[in-house]
Amino acid sequence: MGKNPSFLTKPNSVESATPWTTEDSAQLYGVNDWGADYFSVNEAGQAVVNVPFGEQKASVAILDIIQAMSERGLEMPAMLRIENLLDDRIAKLNNAFAEAITAYDYQNVYRGVFPIKVNQQCHVVEEIADYGRRFSHGLEAGSKAELIIALAKLQDNDSLIVCNGYKDSEFIELGLYAREMGIPCFFILETPAELPIIIKASQRLGIKPLLGVRIRSSVKVDGHWNADSGDRSIFGLSTTALFDVVTQLKAADMIDCLQLLHCHIGSQIPNIRNIRNGVQEACQFYSGLQAEGAPMGYLDLGGGLAVDYEGTRNISSNSMNYGLDEYCAAIVETISEALTPKGIAHPVIVTESGRATVAYSSMLLFNILDVRNHDPAPLPDALPEDSHELLQNLWLVNDAINSQNYQECFHDAEYYRDQIRQLFLHGQIGLSERACADNLALAVFEKVAKEVAQQNRPAPELLDIHEQLADVYYGNFSLFQSLPDAWAIDQVFPVMPVHRLEERPTRHAVIADITCDCDGQINRFASVDGIKKTIRLHEKQEQEDYYLGVFLVGAYQETLGDLHNLFGDTNVVSVHISEDGSLNFAREFHGDSISDVLSYVEYDPKIMQEEFRKRAEAAVKQGKITAVKRKTILKAFKDSLDGYTYFESETL
Ligand SMILES: *Cc1c(COP(=O)(O)O)cnc(C)c1O
Repeated sequence: MGKNPSFLTKPNSVESATPWTTEDSAQLYGVNDWGADYFSVNEAGQAVVNVPFGEQKASVAILDIIQAMSERGLEMPAMLRIENLLDDRIAKLNNAFAEAITAYDYQNVYRGVFPIKVNQQCHVVEEIADYGRRFSHGLEAGSKAELIIALAKLQDNDSLIVCNGYKDSEFIELGLYAREMGIPCFFILETPAELPIIIKASQRLGIKPLLGVRIRSSVKVDGHWNADSGDRSIFGLSTTALFDVVTQLKAADMIDCLQLLHCHIGSQIPNIRNIRNGVQEACQFYSGLQAEGAPMGYLDLGGGLAVDYEGTRNISSNSMNYGLDEYCAAIVETISEALTPKGIAHPVIVTESGRATVAYSSMLLFNILDVRNHDPAPLPDALPEDSHELLQNLWLVNDAINSQNYQECFHDAEYYRDQIRQLFLHGQIGLSERACADNLALAVFEKVAKEVAQQNRPAPELLDIHEQLADVYYGNFSLFQSLPDAWAIDQVFPVMPVHRLEERPTRHAVIADITCDCDGQINRFASVDGIKKTIRLHEKQEQEDYYLGVFLVGAYQETLGDLHNLFGDTNVVSVHISEDGSLNFAREFHGDSISDVLSYVEYDPKIMQEEFRKRAEAAVKQGKITAVKRKTILKAFKDSLDGYTYFESETL
């Protein structure tokens, strides 16, 4: 560690020799590293979204979008989708493959498919289908419901439909009819048991299917998404099962249907080496199947293209050590090197990128409702004469701190505070002395933190003291509903205030959600120095809203969410940004009302109104309220049922 790392800036040390700039904010929050040029900080200190238009770009301040949403009655929290970013990701993916194909003189084309499970929201899938049409970008379906989406939303016969997952005869029948209509709909076999059902249906309807086989790759993938990769994978055919499939197909005279090899080695693959290995192995299976008499023609490499949530470009599970161009080049080159020498025709390359397609286009926006800090209250001039000896010791510690003894003072303060808490526990001192001790200890810790910030080589054990003194910023959102992976698998998402970025953020904070569940907090933040427990934020002003954004949440977050504490879906807004920077509100959905979420768990709001009416009527009978008051109270009950499940700002 050279000079003072950035995180050592002391909480509350508002004054500093050098003025704070918007570039400092960009660096602190890493936006230029994870933002992929889609997000940045403008000169006014606002977070902006940048939409590319050829060589130009349109930049819009997120705060302006929040303002425009508010004018339309769409309050925080809200999921904001930028349609253009979805389009741009699809264009980038297809163009990058096209360039690699030219560069390596590859003799076939790329056909992407979007796996619907990654974001099933109608608007997202429609946008991908509509915009993707120019690239014949198709859809991957893992269930009957998703096949139905794909059949309805794709409108041309060049875009592929790839069906993974277990398929019953209804699923298969539907897919066969699609074949008959000329739709390139592939059934991917995950187990040999599916095959007899497909063969039977095919013979009964007289329609030949397009078939693929999913192999079980032996490549073990880095990153915590991929514990089940390699031989342990629960998906795909073993080599024995693969031979079983080939034998069955030959017997049914259907080996000509086998045209695709599918290999999905994992999601969020941080290391390009794993990807190359996976492709290499897939190519060997591909040529082996062709040698067995299958025509083949398509090589589907599944998902796995990562998103650099940390912006650190390394092989940690929230990052990646490669870019999109390198990914495409690695795939095209590896296939070409494996198959060209064998004289095997280059297959159509299919990938099923989900995360990398949709992550960028959505962000969660919310306001901060309240802040709890650990600042000590002002100390009295002196302790009362008869104060307990331990308390007097603590007082002396607070007086004695300097740059030499701060570490010792920290230990002493902790010790005396804990002793005093013991006395309180046993009833030997009162509440006021306990409160005084807690406050004195905080005063000591704050001074220690100041010393630590000024040291060139602070005591290592105290490096994270600001984490222990961190504020809690209460955000108007539910982690369980809107960021389920932050809770379930400790995923790191970039977080940043969307305004005031020209100001120095002076507080260290964790962000708690509105559920008041101890798991409902964001306490893992990416930074240039690795994952941090706290984030630096601005002091919340009394009368002003403070808005934060959680970025890159378009993949997997929107439908995994649950109704923890019955916080429902947030408002969702899709905007399309024009070249002149004007906003077009393409779609808007109002989030769940309390009635909605109650119905999800089988309550009947009508009956509940009736039940509450009875109680109110009884209160009138008992003389506790008047009949007129009853009317007011029942209206309040009804208004609450109709209201948003999140904290609503007063509108007077
Ligand atoms: C989940 C999944 C994907 C999507 O993977 P990403 O890493 O999000 O691109 C693709 N294919 C299959 C079979 C999947 O199960």
